[in-house]
Amino acid sequence: MEEKTLAIIKPDAIKKKAIGKIIQRIEDEGFKISGLKMLHLSKEEAKGFYIIHKDKHFYESLTDFMSSGEIVIMVLERENVISHWRKVMGVTDPALAEPGTLRHIFGFSIERNAIHGSDGPDTAEWEIDYFYKEKT
Ligand code: UDP
Ligand code: MG
Repeated sequence: MEEKTLAIIKPDAIKKKAIGKIIQRIEDEGFKISGLKMLHLSKEEAKGFYIIHKDKHFYESLTDFMSSGEIVIMVLERENVISHWRKVMGVTDPALAEPGTLRHIFGFSIERNAIHGSDGPDTAEWEIDYFYKEKT
């Protein structure tokens, strides 16, 4: 059963000073924040996180962007956490995201779209482990 998801506030939203507004929305939507930290990923760490997209045309540019500044990662919990977070976040392209969604409000482009959310229970578990599991 899905109980957790990984959310990221991406470097574009941090530069816009939107951390506070995004966290307020998270709490207003009934999510519990059970983990939170600010990181500045290396290019290699960004490439590892997005390894699933390694053959996509946007992989190099995306991982440059994701390692370009600080990010805030959060573990969220709630009923239907994965689908509800993706609904609050909006679709990938901010130009197509519904008004009121975080990507519509804070996103700039299909790449610089302000927010990340896991897309299923298996990826949520993998993504949370990526940032929280002790590296041996
Ligand atoms: N992305 C991009 N160009 C594209 C599609 C996606 O730069 O044409 C970036 C964007 O930042 C997106 C991330 O790659 O959030 C991961 O893509 P995915 O298809 O998994 O979208 P998401 O699940 O984030 O909506
Ligand atoms: Mg995705």
